[in-house]
Amino acid sequence: MQRIERVTALPAAWSHHGTAFHHAAEQVERSNRAMGADEAVEAFSERYGLLVNAALDKEPNTDRWLSASGSGGDDIERRYVLGQEQTRHYVEWVNETQPEVWTTPDDQPALELYFMVELGGVKVRGYIDQLIAEDEASVRVRDLKTGTMKSKFQLETYKVAVTQKYGVTVNRGDWYLAKNGGLSRAVKLDEVTEEQVGERFAAMDAGVKRGDFEPNPGFSCRFCDMKHACSFSTSKT
Ligand code: SF4
Repeated sequence: MQRIERVTALPAAWSHHGTAFHHAAEQVERSNRAMGADEAVEAFSERYGLLVNAALDKEPNTDRWLSASGSGGDDIERRYVLGQEQTRHYVEWVNETQPEVWTTPDDQPALELYFMVELGGVKVRGYIDQLIAEDEASVRVRDLKTGTMKSKFQLETYKVAVTQKYGVTVNRGDWYLAKNGGLSRAVKLDEVTEEQVGERFAAMDAGVKRGDFEPNPGFSCRFCDMKHACSFSTSKT
């Protein structure tokens, strides 16, 4: 609906929360963890404020903002405080556990790492939050999450992209869960192949080209930024 019918998505504080948290974590890592918690919290707050204010300029009515609990306005305020706490925890956690960020062959820290690869005949591009050095020969893909939605397929895609681009071994992936202030359990990726991931991208791409957009109404409608314009939505508020 957004790409073809050009429907404007409803705003949600959770997306700005996630973006600002990623920004602060990246700043911490790019400073080689010299950045302290106060400065990191400031980086989060500044970015969150900029993003939310820009979105409020476009949609000033916070009752039209998506929210998982309470009003849109309450959610904006709640996530400002929550994101600050999560940023502070992240700084404490990295300083305590000291994960080693992998360095790419062109001498770049593997942070917000861009990739563009071909999988199943489809051009796939993205940014990987972090690659962590496990030992000399392998890296672990890590995705930072402020929400609860986790996609194993996302980690699988990162694995094959990293292997294709850098020829490095990826046996595991995980999520840093800001809600818990720590890592998820590791996801095994050693048996994931480029063919398997490529097949899924090829199938999705073929579906898009056929215009095969089956509605899937249900619980997820509550969090869907198209629900205001979707005739199948089970949640209009
Ligand atoms: S059915 Fe629900 S989840 Fe799917 S597009 Fe419509 S509102 Fe969104």
